[in-house]
Amino acid sequence: MLINGKWKKNLTNNVYNTYNPSNQNNLGDIQNSSKQDILEAIEVAYFAFKDWSQRSPYDRSKLLYKAWENMLKKQESLATIMTLEQGKTLKSAKAEVKYASDFLLWYAEEAKRINGKFITSEKNGQRFITQKIPVGVVGAITPWNYPVSMITRKLAPALAAGCTVVLKPSEYTPLCAIETFKILQETGFPDGVINLITPYKPQDTGNIFTSDPRVAKVTFTGSTNVGRLLASKSGKNLKRISLELGGHAPFIIFPDADPVHAAKGLSALKFLNSGQACISPNRIFVHQGIKEFFEKTLLERVKKIKVGNGLDETIKMGPLINEEAIIKIDSQVKDALNKGAELIFGGKVLNSNSLTQGYFYSPTIISNIKPNMKIYREETFGPIAPIIYYNDPEEAINMANDTEYGLAAYIYTKDISLAMKTMEKLNFAIIGINDVNPTSSAVPFGGIANSGIGREGGQEGIEEYLETKSIGINI
Ligand code: NAD
Repeated sequence: MLINGKWKKNLTNNVYNTYNPSNQNNLGDIQNSSKQDILEAIEVAYFAFKDWSQRSPYDRSKLLYKAWENMLKKQESLATIMTLEQGKTLKSAKAEVKYASDFLLWYAEEAKRINGKFITSEKNGQRFITQKIPVGVVGAITPWNYPVSMITRKLAPALAAGCTVVLKPSEYTPLCAIETFKILQETGFPDGVINLITPYKPQDTGNIFTSDPRVAKVTFTGSTNVGRLLASKSGKNLKRISLELGGHAPFIIFPDADPVHAAKGLSALKFLNSGQACISPNRIFVHQGIKEFFEKTLLERVKKIKVGNGLDETIKMGPLINEEAIIKIDSQVKDALNKGAELIFGGKVLNSNSLTQGYFYSPTIISNIKPNMKIYREETFGPIAPIIYYNDPEEAINMANDTEYGLAAYIYTKDISLAMKTMEKLNFAIIGINDVNPTSSAVPFGGIANSGIGREGGQEGIEEYLETKSIGINI
């Protein structure tokens, strides 16, 4: 745990272990933070806020800039730890470290642009100004699937704004968080400004963050159910909250689209991080007229995806995070097949040869998906590409919108007019048009409907950590 600038052990030496999902090797002891540790971290963050919030944003910017440089210097070692603990391939892990560092750079720059306004009054002798001020201590909770970038996407804007932070990572990826905080700590943030707690069970942190009066804001990335729970608890205490939650992205391929380009984009995105991404395409809408050629092209690509330990450079897809993840997706696949879906490729647990000890699942394509199947509605979070056939573009758009989620959606067509009209009709907050990577530190990221509240990244991201003060001046 990092509390008040010191790496701390638990008083009772209460620890738990973190494991490699490729082979279940134990990666080390993690301090199981107690309620007392969480409260201590909040106390020091509350104390540190007084000085940190008063510093010039230019000072805060310099530290964030240095943190960006430090993280890039450690790209290789941080990525290796990520592959060991989370499972994604080393290439993907390096790309994530780069993405994580982008937020440090972006908010180093945004720190200098926390500006207010000068507003005229109807009264001659009066003027108004507004000032943006940091909200206070931030309680942050992050998931395991992007275990480094989800940390900096919260920390960087919070620190730029002048907030202090207590962060709890997922119990599946505490090492990634520890290494990230080491990098930030070496940068020279003052004691108490960044604090890391690593409890095994998350409930105490959720209860304390949402009720302790010293925590001004809760920011959470994870599942919709936990987000809903934290929102209801925060609401009771009128705490500010941002939520980055689940998704069930549609991927609509119109008949005029280049099927090769679409199949290439889909296979690159769908199997990235073994499908464990909130913006992963989960419902692939394919026009009846192009289905044979599209499926053949997709199958050719998917067959080539080699599954295994992500440290091996020839591997294209790593394991899933744990046994539960395997059980969930396998039950979705079986349910679909029992109800008439067609298996095109995969659909099975991989556990032979070098894969016996890990949580591996075959990249899978299933077609003829219908609304009565679990996979049509539930967030998939695994390497399954479920294909839904349609005839009429309106029908595809209606089915795409037939979900509780509203995070990402993808459109493939050469017709710019159709692309724009479809984009406007889709109830999703992030849209890729012939593009499978519509994200960047410069662009707001977040969901509508049950995919969340608030935005991370871009100019919007820092607003989540700022309040507006209005000042009237009699002249
Ligand atoms: P999760 O909700 O199980 O856990 C997320 C975090 O919340 C972890 O740190 C966990 O320990 C903590 N947590 C769990 N129960 C809690 C409780 N009662 N009180 C306080 N904290 C609690 O989610 P996960 O399995 O780690 O992550 C996968 C989910 O995250 C998926 O639904 C995915 O779509 C979503 N996600 C969303 C985004 C986004 O930006 N919208 C990004 C990444 C992941």
